Amino acid sequence: MLVPDLQPPLPLAWGFSTRLDSPEDLPVRRLDQVHRCGIVEASDAVAEGDGLWTTKPGVRIGVRVADCVPVLLAGPLADGSPWAAALHAGWRGATGHGDPGPGGGILRRGVARYRALGGHPADLVWAFGPAILACHFEVGGEVIAAARQDPAWHEELCSEGPSGKPHLDLHGFLRAQALDLGLDAAKDGSVALCTVCRPDLLHSYRRGETTGRQWGWIEIR
Ligand SMILES: [Zn+2]
Repeated sequence: MLVPDLQPPLPLAWGFSTRLDSPEDLPVRRLDQVHRCGIVEASDAVAEGDGLWTTKPGVRIGVRVADCVPVLLAGPLADGSPWAAALHAGWRGATGHGDPGPGGGILRRGVARYRALGGHPADLVWAFGPAILACHFEVGGEVIAAARQDPAWHEELCSEGPSGKPHLDLHGFLRAQALDLGLDAAKDGSVALCTVCRPDLLHSYRRGETTGRQWGWIEIR
């Protein structure tokens, strides 16, 4: 298990599983993830979505990924009780591409949900987990075009890869959104490992694994 290098000021357990972890440490509930921006409360019966949140202790929630970014967020609500969320952010989720709902990508919508419940974004602890990083994330021009629609976009997030095609820094893109949303850089516990670079530890769809996934999970204690 990879654990964010950050001591959260809340009773919280969180982590990113690897291919070495046994299933009993992982969440029971599996969302049908569809690369969009739907975020549901863990107690909802809704089966489809790309993010879960909870305020209940003892409920381990999570998303499964194999190149997309698992995003974990937690912070206090107005009454001091904890709120936690796990989001699945590939390029479609991060940009909101193809999702007709308002508010941009899934991180923006997740933080908006927290605000709507009375939370202050600067209070959130946050961590992005292992994902395909800029070293390997070759993308088509339509991906960069979608990312450019975000107000936090800056051109340094796109670089030219060895084949001449663009590479997207998806972690950097989400970090730019996080800071734009008012999250505190000192509360970032991200684990920046590349899924393609680490076959010893991590599943990668891009590397040719169609079934293996790792979890980003979080639980209020
Ligand atoms: Zn890599």
